[in-house]
Amino acid sequence: KSGFIAIIGRPNVGKSTFMNRVIGQKIAIMSDKPQTTRNKIQGVWTEDDAQIVFIDTPGIHKPKHKLGDFMVKVAEQSLNEVDAIMFMINAEEGYGRGDQFIIDRLEKVDKPVFLIINKIDKVHPDDLLPLIDQYRGMYDFEEIIPISALEGNNVSHLLEVFKAQL
Ligand code: GDP
Ligand code: MG
Repeated sequence: KSGFIAIIGRPNVGKSTFMNRVIGQKIAIMSDKPQTTRNKIQGVWTEDDAQIVFIDTPGIHKPKHKLGDFMVKVAEQSLNEVDAIMFMINAEEGYGRGDQFIIDRLEKVDKPVFLIINKIDKVHPDDLLPLIDQYRGMYDFEEIIPISALEGNNVSHLLEVFKAQL
């Protein structure tokens, strides 16, 4: 079983930290499957019976100029080519306008979206539930999964959930 997952989220939410934690091997050469968009493979998580390819999707941000507009379109396209989307936010910062921009883009995508609330090591558990409730009202997320990419909390659970999706 294998699948492709796109990781999106504002800068500094912890996308690279997550990748570094789960990736067993970095791959330099892309598959021979033709890519219609500029998807960048970031790494592959492999187990005996499963493989998940994580894709970095640049360009999901508020465009500052026309070229930016185009990049956003390309990014939207690439989101339609993966099996699922991992939308990562920062538990400590909470909701911001950058998130709303991404959520607006997600409205055009017909793929399961997992909300990953990262950096839970930085917040009190009591503050996590209101945050989950807040985001639940914003989009029909497949599942909301709190993690700490840095300390590893709940990361194996997240991978199991993704694996079940393949
Ligand atoms: P990216 O821009 O989304 O790729 O974010 P990075 O992975 O570069 O992380 C940005 C900063 O947040 C770095 O200083 C990380 O060490 C820190 N960070 C990432 N994940 C966590 C986490 O789960 N907990 C804490 N406390 N810090 C984190
Ligand atoms: Mg990064």
